[in-house]
Amino acid sequence: MAKKQFKAESKRLLDMMINSIYTQREIFLRELISNASDAIDKIYYKALTDDNLVFNKDDYFIKITPDKEKRILTISDTGIGMTKEELENNLGVIAKSGSLAFKTENEAKDGHNIIGQFGVGFYSAFMVADVVTVITKALGSDEAYKWESKGSDGYTITSAEKDSIGTDIILKIKDNTEDDQYDEFLEEYRLRSIIKKYSDFIRYPIKMDVTTSRPKEGADNEFEEVQEEQTINSMVPIWRKNKDELTEEDYENFYTEKRYGFDKPLKHVHIKADGAVVYNAILFIPEHTPFDYYTKEYEKGLELYSNGVLIMEKCGDLLPDYFSFVKGMVDSEDLSLNISREMLQHDRQLTLIAKNIKSKIKSTLQSMLKDEREKYEKFYEAFGRGLKFGVYNEYGANKDLLQDLLLFTSSKEKKLVTLDEYVSRMPEDQKYIYYAAGESIERLEKLPQTELVLDKGYEILYFTDDVDEFAIKMLMKYKDKEFKSVSSGDLGIESEAEKKESEAEENENKELFKAMEGYLEGKVTAVKASKRLKSHPVCLSSEGELSIEMEKILKAMPN
Ligand code: ADP
Ligand code: MG
Repeated sequence: MAKKQFKAESKRLLDMMINSIYTQREIFLRELISNASDAIDKIYYKALTDDNLVFNKDDYFIKITPDKEKRILTISDTGIGMTKEELENNLGVIAKSGSLAFKTENEAKDGHNIIGQFGVGFYSAFMVADVVTVITKALGSDEAYKWESKGSDGYTITSAEKDSIGTDIILKIKDNTEDDQYDEFLEEYRLRSIIKKYSDFIRYPIKMDVTTSRPKEGADNEFEEVQEEQTINSMVPIWRKNKDELTEEDYENFYTEKRYGFDKPLKHVHIKADGAVVYNAILFIPEHTPFDYYTKEYEKGLELYSNGVLIMEKCGDLLPDYFSFVKGMVDSEDLSLNISREMLQHDRQLTLIAKNIKSKIKSTLQSMLKDEREKYEKFYEAFGRGLKFGVYNEYGANKDLLQDLLLFTSSKEKKLVTLDEYVSRMPEDQKYIYYAAGESIERLEKLPQTELVLDKGYEILYFTDDVDEFAIKMLMKYKDKEFKSVSSGDLGIESEAEKKESEAEENENKELFKAMEGYLEGKVTAVKASKRLKSHPVCLSSEGELSIEMEKILKAMPN
């Protein structure tokens, strides 16, 4: 049977595609600038192998020209241009990418800076324009052509006039409607900010005539408005630079410029990964907790760039929840520009990068703990709670990763200690890691239960954060030592002889305890003799897995 080709309503398909891929209209500019940059790159790569072609960097640029009156926005480039055939193939066939073909053909030479590959970016222009006109002259050709389309009902290609090699994309910006405003795409300041946001690191200058006012010559206190061509993008991103070229101040400025926070970063990590996945990243550990950090409103994530082009402002998939305090950006050549959020989650490269970043953050924190204790404690004060939640969440799946990053206040000098420090100075006869959970250290110190343990010369970890004990329950043990609450029934301190003694005492006073249990019915489950009391006559303790403190917290939680 002869196979039939699917037919598609191209108008509807175009609409559907544009609206499902892009959530924000402003990205049309990013797409068109990326295409222009690709077109210049192509000349650059050709020049690498063609001796007759000289690539003089100063001759290549992208220019953005808004015309408010005519409602026209032009994006011009001095790139490779398109022949009539290429116009037909690249702009006439949806989802056909001339750039992908170029990359495949030129695989031997590294064409990896070229961004395009999906063959849909161009059509995003129809989100803001009723008519799109392309005037182009290809490298090595004497003829220019004009491609024009209103998006829905096809396109025309005719001969045109153009002096220089390159392409002009001319957008007739839509009129405002009741619901939608398009004027902004003709405003200088708005265009500038869109370019800055998405295309700041395009490697060729993006120029625009900008209106500035300057003192009028020969006249005092008078100003005149002049048009001045400016390069809007900064071109070389800091993360592509070598680490030894950069100072601490450079990183701090970047942090501020990017508005990652109003504080100064406590630490930065500059990653240049060249292994299974190639990417650059600059990560920051902030000094202060953002005001909404411990609320549902806080959104974790890193900026994600594909080859210097911003594709997502907050990519949450790059950070595990317990490292959600990390700010910064990732740039990878292996990611595709047009990728949508849904597709991104399943992107193998992204998963690899995330894994890589996770271990990098961990090792950074670990060396900070080792070599810059004071700084680490500062960090821990701000974000330690998140780490403890990380141990507790996902049924303790991350405990191995996180346990050595935890700090608790110890009864010894009331300083923060790691579990490793605690365990390594335990006396030989000490079986457990002791802790006391409660509201404040002052109160915990007054507990009758702590007395005996301290008297034995054992250290106690004071848990004053709700999550502490929950996290510890997930860990269960550290280096084979179990955790034990000082208020639990059996402290593991009594010797066999002492145990026998208590038992005898218990039996002797059976009647008395029974009577007491009667008086306290509903308040306690049992009354027992205790060997752990010294200066206090009585104390409360718990029997099961839950300590009194945990029970209190659980009871206070809304169901
Ligand atoms: P992609 O960039 O993913 O390939 P686009 O829809 O953005 O897809 O563009 C389709 C193709 O049209 C590009 O691959 C390229 O071959 C061609 N093209 C678009 N804009 C230009 C331009 N300014 N100069 C030269 N060729 C271009
Ligand atoms: Mg493109």
